[in-house]
Amino acid sequence: MKIFECGHCHYALFFENNHCENCGHLCGYDDIGHKILTFDPENAALISDRNHNVYKYCKNKEYDVCNWLIPVEDSADFCSACQLNRTIPNLSQKKNFENWRTLEVGKHRLIYQLHKLHLPIVSKHQDEQGLAFDFVVSQEPGQLMTGHANGIITILLREADSVFREQTRIQLLEPYRTLIGHMRHEVGHYFWDRLISNDEKILAEFRLTFGDERHDYSESLKQYYEKGAPEEWQQTFISKYASSHPWEDWAETWAHYLHIMDMVETAYYFGIKANPKGTTKSMNLDVSFDPYQVLNFDSVIQTCVPLSFAVNSINRAMGVPDVYPFVISSAVANKMKFIHHLLLSIKRRDKN
Ligand SMILES: [Zn+2]
Ligand SMILES: [Zn+2]
Ligand SMILES: [Zn+2]
Repeated sequence: MKIFECGHCHYALFFENNHCENCGHLCGYDDIGHKILTFDPENAALISDRNHNVYKYCKNKEYDVCNWLIPVEDSADFCSACQLNRTIPNLSQKKNFENWRTLEVGKHRLIYQLHKLHLPIVSKHQDEQGLAFDFVVSQEPGQLMTGHANGIITILLREADSVFREQTRIQLLEPYRTLIGHMRHEVGHYFWDRLISNDEKILAEFRLTFGDERHDYSESLKQYYEKGAPEEWQQTFISKYASSHPWEDWAETWAHYLHIMDMVETAYYFGIKANPKGTTKSMNLDVSFDPYQVLNFDSVIQTCVPLSFAVNSINRAMGVPDVYPFVISSAVANKMKFIHHLLLSIKRRDKN
């Protein structure tokens, strides 16, 4: 994630801010320009300090779950991220409301990143092939599951409850379980349908890299839950679950690709450098590039290793879990390269 600044006083702003903590100016995120615009609080109309365009806030600003802006002449009430919501929970229950707010933070960050990657995002309200989110409370165990089907991403509201999430993480022996992780994984299934399934050439390359997805999916998952991951899974997969079926390998690797890109982008905007004492030069770090602009994915991977070493060490100093508790083998790096090159080719195609 980029660092943003107040257009009035140049104080640093977070992506989620709707006002500047320092000078009190209102602000909001412009998803076309990928920047935060700042507004004079004295002016009832939302006129950008910088370019004098007039905006309105997304309707979800009322609930304090969105700070995105819409040009005033646009008839839409909701921003490009909130237009993707198909189901939101019953907000009369306080706990639902808090969980929904937490989910929206993850979803907005996800959409920011998909925009950065030039991925086509259309709401299912406008196009049958589009994307939609159902944030739901499961009534009965086994009824609704977090998952993706035909462009609908379902996320169980209780995943936003940190106690539930941690219990599930331990139960499933996962090293990492977060909301943004769920969203990145599930949207990976959506983009598999959109980018790979209907292109013979790309599909053939996918099968060479991830395996043949025509293996019976339900049977593969059943086998996985009975027998677990193969002994040497770390040489080939980013997680145990990725070994269950090529579709899950794709979604898991896709999620990690997005994790890494976001970590490196954040490090780039902070100008993070490290020269750890008493270690080899391989742990030196100087993030001097924006990962969304690089052609060679090796440089992203090479940055990710010393970066997670440094950040994980700081977390350990505070007694909190590692930020990135994973090892990227060369086989996994190759899968990520496949994703990187696929996304670069889409970006090039859209520019021409
Ligand atoms: Zn300010
Ligand atoms: Zn919104
Ligand atoms: Zn999945």
